Amino acid sequence: MPAPAETILILGGTAEANLLTERLRQARPEARIVLSLAGRTHAPALPAGVEVRIGGFGGAAGLAEYLGAEHVVWLVDATHPFAAGISRNAAEAAEIADVQRIALVRPPWEPVEGDRWTAADCLGTARDALPAGAKAFLALGRQHLAPFRLRPDIAFVVRMIEPPDPPLPFPAEVVLGRPEVDAAAEATLFARLAITHLVCRNSGGTASYAKIAAARHLSLPVVMIARAPEPPGPVVRTLDEALAVLGAASAA
Ligand code: NAP
Repeated sequence: MPAPAETILILGGTAEANLLTERLRQARPEARIVLSLAGRTHAPALPAGVEVRIGGFGGAAGLAEYLGAEHVVWLVDATHPFAAGISRNAAEAAEIADVQRIALVRPPWEPVEGDRWTAADCLGTARDALPAGAKAFLALGRQHLAPFRLRPDIAFVVRMIEPPDPPLPFPAEVVLGRPEVDAAAEATLFARLAITHLVCRNSGGTASYAKIAAARHLSLPVVMIARAPEPPGPVVRTLDEALAVLGAASAA
């Protein structure tokens, strides 16, 4: 029986993971590349022709078992910077299974001239940083809204792709739609809604930066929720660095 192909497992759920998977497939055609998703999104955008597995592994132990059973030689943690649980599991599982691991972590945003940021280390701190009477735009997923119910002295605006069902945990104005990719459009929205504060997480990357630039343009204070500490090294910042480590530098 031929030896099983070397497997590279990419923990995804991000645009970077999709891109990395695509580029690795081109650069390492002899390897088996598997993209893993948690299964939170009904119809995730995926690169064509890629082997995808969906759903949790059952903690670090389950992931370690998968690594052994599937002959994984590289574990690439390309999950979202706020997905701390799976990153912890990845580090532990790689240790248990003695598999090489890298984390691809996009750099956080840094304030630039004109930004008015207040740092918060969690949702509760962000909530408490808002002054009474503010009208705050919560650029947060629905699952992160609950702590703000304790501030009835603030008007909240929440953006959602679909109308909330069940209803939100507190009264809030809902803006239906996706985030604008254009800072000017975000600024127009914030001005029309008379927003006084923006609350968001420091996700980094370009995809959701328009709101930050818009707040700067309008001189709006931003309550910026910091990330949890990064997974233990080795960490790379860019696709090209990840490809180089994975022996696919020629495609970079
Ligand atoms: P999390 O809290 O770190 O992980 C919770 C559990 O979900 C993990 O223990 C694992 O279950 C499962 N899981 C997470 N990512 C997985 C993956 N790529 N493949 C297989 N199982 C996975 O994660 P989260 O914050 O809920 O995020 C879930 C997914 O959404 C991640 O893949 C992440 O990249 C993506 N995402 C997250 C955010 C965010 O803001 N957190 C934003 C955009 C995209 P088991 O313990 O059973 O293995």
